[in-house]
Amino acid sequence: MTKQTVFVINSGSSSLKYQLIEPVSGEVLAKGIAERIGTDKGEITHEANGEKHHDALPLPTHKEAFTRIVEMFKENGPDLDSANVVGCGHRVVQGGWYFRGSAVINQDTHAKIVELCDLAPLHNPAHLIGIDTAMELWPDLPHVAAFDTAFFHDLPTETQTYALEKETAAKYHIRRYGAHGTSHEYVSGLVCDHLGRDDVKQITLHLGNGASACAELGRKAIDTSMGLTPLEGLVMGTRTGDIDPAVVFHLLRKGMNVDELDTLFNKKSGMLGLCGDNDMRDVWQRCQAGDPDALHALQVYLQRLLKYVGAYTAELGGLDVLTFTAGIGENDPGIRAKLCEKLAFMGVKLDPERNENRDRAAEVWQISAPDSQVMVLVIPTNEEVAIARQVLSLI
Ligand code: ADP
Repeated sequence: MTKQTVFVINSGSSSLKYQLIEPVSGEVLAKGIAERIGTDKGEITHEANGEKHHDALPLPTHKEAFTRIVEMFKENGPDLDSANVVGCGHRVVQGGWYFRGSAVINQDTHAKIVELCDLAPLHNPAHLIGIDTAMELWPDLPHVAAFDTAFFHDLPTETQTYALEKETAAKYHIRRYGAHGTSHEYVSGLVCDHLGRDDVKQITLHLGNGASACAELGRKAIDTSMGLTPLEGLVMGTRTGDIDPAVVFHLLRKGMNVDELDTLFNKKSGMLGLCGDNDMRDVWQRCQAGDPDALHALQVYLQRLLKYVGAYTAELGGLDVLTFTAGIGENDPGIRAKLCEKLAFMGVKLDPERNENRDRAAEVWQISAPDSQVMVLVIPTNEEVAIARQVLSLI
């Protein structure tokens, strides 16, 4: 029998990313992205069989993008009709108080994702466009929503609760929902598989343009740095992370409005706001040239990371494994080395050679020295494969 495959979709407001995945092996048979949807200057890049195919065309809506993507599969392979696609997985940022795992999309699930737009106004509406378009195109296929928050649905009550007056919190569903859950669940699960233990005291650091830390006891999250939205926590590419909420009151009183503040905190702050660059490779280049803003931004970034690792080690009552993942976590030996240097007090010791020369083919790559008291790992995250596997287990 032909192997089963899953079509995974990550729909943004003006983009649509997709992968055709064989979930058991994790093999990616094709992937691509449609960009600038909503304009007459749309672009699609489709990768299959080691080749990249581009097309430029007007893409007024997600529907035209989808239709063209399916045509590109016909023209360049693999043939979707014979690919034995058994389901379609949709990434959804906010699953709110409803979802503790992924869910088959039916009328009820759909209505809940719509209701949760209130909590994720930038993300859930864009995901819904992708969901609706794909369901219209493939009505006979099961469609599954995989939520970024699901891994954190059952956080211990003391870590999910803000010390906000409880009636207001209840009325507006204000709690810590977390984000990047698919990634933290996947990576921490691999750590448990790797060690053959389910009681590992571990911290996973998802350091990309967005960044979050998660403390896990075995396969269960006990705390995470993102909150009601992905704004809380670590210093990110363009987001503030933790900041005194009174800064908001102060700036409101100074005349800024809510939308301006939203943009300031989410898009103009973080590394970009501190030094003018949000790509860590550019920040490092400037640091090497002695640029004071870049050096300062790096210090602030590392300080926040250190604080979370320290806090989570205390919450876990010790630390067995620290894992780096995502764009910076996987590719930036400098950040890993600097953080681990600061963690020497708790017996963290890197193997510099392994830190500098990661084997990119390795699913799990140890960078700590054999006599380190904490095992330090690099594990490439793979949210799409994780979603594809969730789809397969549900249908
Ligand atoms: P997201 O999914 O949040 O957009 P990624 O996980 O793809 O982000 O990470 C993107 C970020 O990773 C870039 O903005 C850049 O800062 C960082 N990055 C990628 N490659 C490297 C590298 N070789 N060295 C340092 N940082 C890198």
